[in-house]
Amino acid sequence: MNIYNHITEDIISNLKKICGVESVIADDAKKLRRYSHDQIAEKKYSHMPEVVVKPATTEEIIAIIKLANQRKIPVTPRGAGSGLSGGAVPIYGGICLSVERMNRIIEIDKENLIAVVEPGVVTNKFDAALKDYGLFFAGYPMSEEFCFVGGNVGENAGGGKAIKYGVTGKYITGLEVVTPIGELVQLGGKRFKDVTGYNLIGLMIGSEGTLGVFTKIFIRLLPRPVHKVTILSLFKNIQSAIAIVPIIMTRGKLIPTAIEFLDGFCLYETCKQLNESIAYRDAGAMLLFEVDGTNEVQVKSDAVAIQQLCEEYQAIEVYTAENEEESERFWKIRKQVPWTLKRISPRQSLEDVVVPIAYIPMIIECFHEIGEKYNVLIPCFGHAGDGNLHATPLKNPGHSDERWDNILPEILADIYCAAAKVGGTISGEHGIGHKRKGYMDLVMSKVQIEMMRSIKLALDPNNILNPGKIFD
Ligand SMILES: Cc1cc2nc3c(=O)[nH]c(=O)nc-3n(C[C@H](O)[C@H](O)[C@H](O)COP(=O)(O)OP(=O)(O)OC[C@H]3O[C@@H](n4cnc5c(N)ncnc54)[C@H](O)[C@@H]3O)c2cc1C
Repeated sequence: MNIYNHITEDIISNLKKICGVESVIADDAKKLRRYSHDQIAEKKYSHMPEVVVKPATTEEIIAIIKLANQRKIPVTPRGAGSGLSGGAVPIYGGICLSVERMNRIIEIDKENLIAVVEPGVVTNKFDAALKDYGLFFAGYPMSEEFCFVGGNVGENAGGGKAIKYGVTGKYITGLEVVTPIGELVQLGGKRFKDVTGYNLIGLMIGSEGTLGVFTKIFIRLLPRPVHKVTILSLFKNIQSAIAIVPIIMTRGKLIPTAIEFLDGFCLYETCKQLNESIAYRDAGAMLLFEVDGTNEVQVKSDAVAIQQLCEEYQAIEVYTAENEEESERFWKIRKQVPWTLKRISPRQSLEDVVVPIAYIPMIIECFHEIGEKYNVLIPCFGHAGDGNLHATPLKNPGHSDERWDNILPEILADIYCAAAKVGGTISGEHGIGHKRKGYMDLVMSKVQIEMMRSIKLALDPNNILNPGKIFD
């Protein structure tokens, strides 16, 4: 039951007064549809907004949120819409609040190693702007060409380099936030340390647009690593590939920047699509390593150590990128996988479980068993360095759509239970949104879920900000 009021002509006219006529979309179905989904393949997770607003200032956001509270209208904050859990989908209709116009890099403070940005800055553009200063934003996801920094904070995005650098939240030292009742607050700022009271910044990071709208983001910067080496290594099977991951860290005594993983199916299909010349046909798994740093000698010696360990541990081929172009070519194989799987089967579910790293082979074996049980393929790729695996059940072309709709919830429950059994959880970086909220009790106690509900209710008494996400 929708407990919210619908958008009226009067509300639209108020929104136009707040943001300007050009920044409100109300009666153009084609334009509205763009804001009805994120990057989840399944259409059932989409929902049309009644109106889209594109504020340009914090003051406009405050006015929108106040109006929404008065009229009991739901508001869904939206970044680039590249999410994979439905976080930016307005499931109760109402207002979609897109921050796309708030895309300024406000300040790059090189003395304090902090940048201040608006939430609609494209992650890659931000990082590119830091290049001239010899600085670097380390906590970004692999959708960096199109996602926004605000969305990265909203999901606490991880990515290919999280094993060395950690996830987005690690670099957020401050947030300016419009609260769900339309108050403005600044949490933290340019200081690196802060234990003054509860960690409210930590609470906001990964809150999936349910606890506030970020309007300014303070980001800690690192010296830019100017040297890097990328190594692509092919293995006979998953077991031998994954076995090397802890060895790199324990025997090799180094933490690579990235250790990315593709199973044989993802490798074969992606390389075939890209017309790759590496010897992928004989391989059952691929690892992609990167090492980076500011000391060229150290970076090169780390790369040699990785190559030698791969060779010692039964890699069937080890390729080292000789230049930036080759490095990009290797990364392209990894980055192309989600799109390859989408092409093979638009009906699919890209998952995001995370398990302790030693259990990766065991959990992949479980995915195979689950696949056999339901007669579907469950290819897998992801971030081997931190145990974050994107198992992706694909609809069997021989099954009807109805059958797929019936078995998918069971497949997902089996995948999540398998992860939970080994101390894992249902999402490492993509978040819960409304896609996974029905499965929270598999990995969280009632007490935990109630704690989160109480926080939501305390901050958002009218439940207008992104309702129906994370939990009902
Ligand atoms: C090909 C591909 C690769 C990907 N790779 C990765 C990866 O490596 N790691 C990873 O973590 N994710 C990855 N993702 C998922 C996605 O790109 C990330 O979650 C990204 O951080 C979302 O950013 P966005 O701007 O698109 O946010 P959106 O999808 O628009 O929104 C995400 C959430 O943040 C909230 N939000 C957005 N802006 C604000 C704001 N200003 N204030 C408050 N809340 C806000 C929204 O309400 C929503 O709940 C990938 C996606 C694709 C399609």
